[in-house]
Amino acid sequence: MRPFDYHRAATAAEAIHLPPLKGRRWLGGGTNLIDLMRKGVEHPAALVDISDLPGAIEEAADGSVVIGAAARNSAVAAHPLVRTRYPMLARALLAGASAQVRNMATVGGNLMQRTRCLYFADAAGSRCNKRIPGSGCDARDGFTRYHAILGISPECIAAHPSDMAVALAALDARVHVGSAAGTRTIALTDFHCLPGDHPDIETVLSPTELILAVELPPSQLAARSDYRKVRDRASYAFALVSVAAGMLLDGDRITDIRIALGGVATKPWRALRAEAVLRGERASPEAFLRAAEAELADALPLPGNAFKVELTKRTLAAVLTRLSGDAA
Ligand code: SF4
Repeated sequence: MRPFDYHRAATAAEAIHLPPLKGRRWLGGGTNLIDLMRKGVEHPAALVDISDLPGAIEEAADGSVVIGAAARNSAVAAHPLVRTRYPMLARALLAGASAQVRNMATVGGNLMQRTRCLYFADAAGSRCNKRIPGSGCDARDGFTRYHAILGISPECIAAHPSDMAVALAALDARVHVGSAAGTRTIALTDFHCLPGDHPDIETVLSPTELILAVELPPSQLAARSDYRKVRDRASYAFALVSVAAGMLLDGDRITDIRIALGGVATKPWRALRAEAVLRGERASPEAFLRAAEAELADALPLPGNAFKVELTKRTLAAVLTRLSGDAA
């Protein structure tokens, strides 16, 4: 590991007003960044430790729930406001990593975590456009079981690894960020970038911006929601496919619905096509299948991950069937 400077910030204001320094990175729980530094993938010139920043989880006057960026994943999953109002988020968090990692990992860090593509992590032996722009992509002709089928580009097919962010995409969450220039709010669905020609650019944040909090707007359908993760083993594994969904019903008619997919896309994937098919429709296995087919119509699988097309359809249909109860 290369030498680096270290600074511990006591407040967000202190962190964002530090003199700008090229190669500076924010350090939360360190569960991803430190790993990548050890592997020679990340080489920050300086780390600003923000793990002491507030991680409060509070209800705002308008009924939103605001989660401080330094809140630990385990604390968010266990919080009564999250468990009762946004059960899909609690389940997504508990489906991620191990208990030890969840105790360390922060909400802000979870949003910024990098892909677990094996070739990205192999700094010594593999070509990777995300790690070294323009160098090539060894995944395309390699082991693609964990790679994306939606939102891919010729430059990169890496799946986004977060479970939490999939639920946040379905919940219309907003990310509050700050820098010395001021603050702004970004819709979670706009926070992560598709790889396009620049897979090394993963979010819309500038290097000087710091995530301050994540806001969950009030949501009636979130109370009737679920997160299902299909993976190769029961715990401590990344998703092959995951589905976050919430549904509002009037009798057997779907009056409102939110769906997001994980494990299959290069960013947390809001399934707007599937939602459009189902909104106003009667809940039925046929409608669920039509919605899944609409969402997967533009999927671009490779031989090693073509199974994800059918697996995604079945997982989505299973979650929607559960949420609709006796209506379907
Ligand atoms: Fe790198 Fe993306 Fe290719 Fe993986 S899929 S090797 S992250 S460019």
